[in-house]
Amino acid sequence: MPMTDPELPIVSWHAHVYFDGAEQRARAAALREMIARRFAVQLGRWHEVLVGPHTRPMYQVAFDVAVFARFVPWLALHRDGLDVLVHPNTLAPRADHVQHALWLGQRLAVKPETLPERISAEQEDPVRVNTQPDLGAGQAQQP
Ligand code: ZN
Repeated sequence: MPMTDPELPIVSWHAHVYFDGAEQRARAAALREMIARRFAVQLGRWHEVLVGPHTRPMYQVAFDVAVFARFVPWLALHRDGLDVLVHPNTLAPRADHVQHALWLGQRLAVKPETLPERISAEQEDPVRVNTQPDLGAGQAQQP
């Protein structure tokens, strides 16, 4: 599959914030609170048990394409040593988690065999914003 496949528009993005042990979990919780107060995103459940392609406990942050330019640079500065997988959601989940992935911190193992190669547009979960930001993100303004 070519990397510039015009059939694969980016629908949304995910950031998966990984943690290992109680100390990192506490940092992940603090980061989650900071995200919630600054960005209009969908904060996903905590996954203490490994799920899908992930090889560490984590939670997911889903966000719209328009949020990327403010959120990802902010995350790069504020991830507090945590490893974060940032991936686009095209309709090719397996490639999104491997070839299309960006990593903040260390690149961790993922299990691409757990993911379908292609899904239909109807199978792609829309971002449902569940945060109510009350702080700005540095100089960036919230919409
Ligand atoms: Zn994801």
